[in-house]
Parts: sequence; structure tokens; C-alpha cells
Amino acid sequence: MRIVLVGPPGAGKGTQAAYLAKNLVIPHISTGDLFRANISQGTDLGKQAKAFMDAGELVPDEVTIGMARDRMNQPDAAGGFLLDGFPRNVSQAEALDEALKEDGVTLDAVLDLEVPEEEVVKRIAGRRICRNDSSHVFHVSYSAPKQQGVCDVCGGELYQRDDDSEETVRKRLEVYHTQTEPIIDYYKAQDLVVTIPALGKVEEVTERAMAALQGGE
Ligand code: AMP
Repeated sequence: MRIVLVGPPGAGKGTQAAYLAKNLVIPHISTGDLFRANISQGTDLGKQAKAFMDAGELVPDEVTIGMARDRMNQPDAAGGFLLDGFPRNVSQAEALDEALKEDGVTLDAVLDLEVPEEEVVKRIAGRRICRNDSSHVFHVSYSAPKQQGVCDVCGGELYQRDDDSEETVRKRLEVYHTQTEPIIDYYKAQDLVVTIPALGKVEEVTERAMAALQGGE
């Protein structure tokens, strides 16, 4: 299956993407994770991306689209993938459509995670992520690790993302509304969008998402 996941920052895209990718046996491709890996490795691409990310803005399409395409061209993505955080504006969606067309394939679904705005800021401000694996996500009050600062799953160090400060979150939300939300209409025109409420327990949201995807909508 070829799936795009959309939703505001803090909707739980990374967490859901990890579960869904495992259930569907397809790679989870997160452009945010790819940028963060480049930043920690000190690559040129990472250096180009960092200032935009820290400001809560989108990294320019010239950088982003090439990086996403390279990842989608890896052998493990030949049979399908789950895109998390890409596309994030209409021109990226158009570039993705073109790339898929060249490969003679199409998207199966666009899964839209819906979450109230007040919830988003609360979720992000307390979010802590494992340095070893970004799908190991905790929250200081909603889902606290057994030992503060340590990942329950693998013992890795938990940290707060640089762009998870309240000010940057507000900017990221504004960017989401103005630049990313329009892709939902873009994909509605292709009859690909499935919207599910992203509130509740992680497993419940995953079940809802699997049911929606398997419903063939
Ligand atoms: P995420 O981990 O998906 O929340 O992404 C974190 C940050 O990486 C975003 O706020 C952007 O600065 C950047 N980013 C991730 N994906 C994209 C994309 N598709 N286009 C532009 N910037 C992106």
C-alpha cells in the first residue's frame, strides 16, 4: 500500500505511522526524521534544513522533494510506503504525483488524523522522544516513562525536540493551516482522503486507522 499520513503537529503521526507501517509491512518514511538524522550527522542537507526547522517553517521544496524521492527509491519502498510529514504543501503533492506516475503506481489512501487545536499544544509541550528511535514517544504527564529521561523500550535518552517550544509550535500550527491543510482538498478531489479522530488511546487510534484503511475508502 502507498499511504500518506496528514495531521497537525502533535496529532500523533509519528507514533501511528510506526504502528501502521509495522502492521502493513511497509517502511515508515518521515521527512522530519530524515532531516533530524542529517542534522545529527552534520551533513550539508542538515545544515540547510536546521534554521527552517528551528523557526517552525517548512524546509524549501528544492531540498525536501529530492530527499523524499531518494528515500522512496530505496528498494524497501518498491512495494509500498507510509509517508509521514510529506507532502506538506500542494507543490510537494504535485511532485509526488508526478514521481508516482513515472513509476506507474498510485496512492491508495491519505489518512487524515483529526485532533482539536488546544490538545495539540498540550501534547507537544510535554512530548519527549527517544534519541535511538523517534517512534518511542513519551509525554511527561500523559504517558510518562518509568524513569525520568529514559526510554522504557530501549533505555535510550529522552529529549525534547528543539522545535517543540510553545512559540515554535504555534508557528508550526499556522504553517499547517496555511500550507499543509490545502493538500487535504487536493487529495479529496482524487477521492483518497479518510479522516479519523486521533483522540483516545494509541491502540484505539491505530485500530480505527487500520479499519479505515482496510475499508477500502
Ligand atoms: P516533523 O517531524 O514532521 O514534525 O517535521 C519537523 C520539521 O521538519 C518541520 O516543522 C519542517 O521544518 C521540516 N519538515 C519535515 N517535513 C517537511 C516537508 N515535507 N517539507 C518541508 N519541511 C519539512
